[in-house]
Amino acid sequence: MVDAQSGKMRDPLDTVQSFLTQFDALIDEARAYYRVETLAPRVHVLSPKESQHPPKETLTKDVALTVAALIHGVEVAGLGVMVEFLELVTRGAVRLEQPLGLALGNIPAALKGVRFVERDLNRSFGRTSIETAEDRRADELEALLSRSRRLLDFHQVKLTIDRPFWIFPYSKSGFQFARLVAPDVTLITHWGKGFSADGKCSDEWLNSVGGMGVTMELGQNGFDPKQISHGVAVITRALEVASALDKGGSVPPAVGSKAPIFTWGEIIPYPQTGSPVLDPGWHNFKHVKAGERLGEFSGKVITASVSGPVLFPKYPDRLGDGTYGQNPPAAELVRVLKEITEAELPR
Ligand SMILES: [Zn+2]
Repeated sequence: MVDAQSGKMRDPLDTVQSFLTQFDALIDEARAYYRVETLAPRVHVLSPKESQHPPKETLTKDVALTVAALIHGVEVAGLGVMVEFLELVTRGAVRLEQPLGLALGNIPAALKGVRFVERDLNRSFGRTSIETAEDRRADELEALLSRSRRLLDFHQVKLTIDRPFWIFPYSKSGFQFARLVAPDVTLITHWGKGFSADGKCSDEWLNSVGGMGVTMELGQNGFDPKQISHGVAVITRALEVASALDKGGSVPPAVGSKAPIFTWGEIIPYPQTGSPVLDPGWHNFKHVKAGERLGEFSGKVITASVSGPVLFPKYPDRLGDGTYGQNPPAAELVRVLKEITEAELPR
């Protein structure tokens, strides 16, 4: 990002700090128009001052929608989305009819330019441990999520990608919400076994306590203006949909054609020993054919058993001393997606 005054490239970490400062200032400004309840640092609820809705005491889930960003520190576009959205709110271009939760996840990680500091925040929900900073932050976020009827969590991916996509554990209400909010965005959903055995994701956790959570990956990591304006449009539309659903009315139709729906076709695990290597060049949504080579493990070729777009190819960052950086070998090497119809979703 180029600094308007000096014309020099700005350090991305300075940009994070500057967006955080703007976020705080806009929350302060919003106090003139909304009731702002701060549950933890950068975890707020904005409510209309003269609310026609029942007060908090009479409704356990009084927050109609919570928007989250920076659950992973390097996925910064969501922070840009929050700031641009708050500008619309404080200018009066967007009016909040219902309580809205706004939460920034892993600030220390964002300020360091890393995904997480001690453990993955998006695998830290629903744990009893308070050992790590992320465990403690998950507790703070859970205090807001447990009051939220819906969650829209913005993330980004590490590698090149040609589109945004929805990704969340299947729930009927989550699927309907995502399709009403942005039917033109590719949707990946999964059911059965949890995404990770060790702690829950934000959306998964909210689903387990009677709310509904969906996640949108905006694109590749970074403050991309196109991704940011798309995210702002998604929040605005999500508010409209949430309001219509809560009033029991019909939802104004969305523009755009319906994007495909995918679930996991194949998950290729990371072998216990040895160093499997994905061939270079695999990136999200690059298509693989059944039988096509993906990489190699101990002299044996790894091939896909189904055809479809690949997702989350893993390239561990092995350091000179044989240890790993923030991308150690994961439980899996790559996933292959399978396109499905709505009729194939769980009942
Ligand atoms: Zn993420």
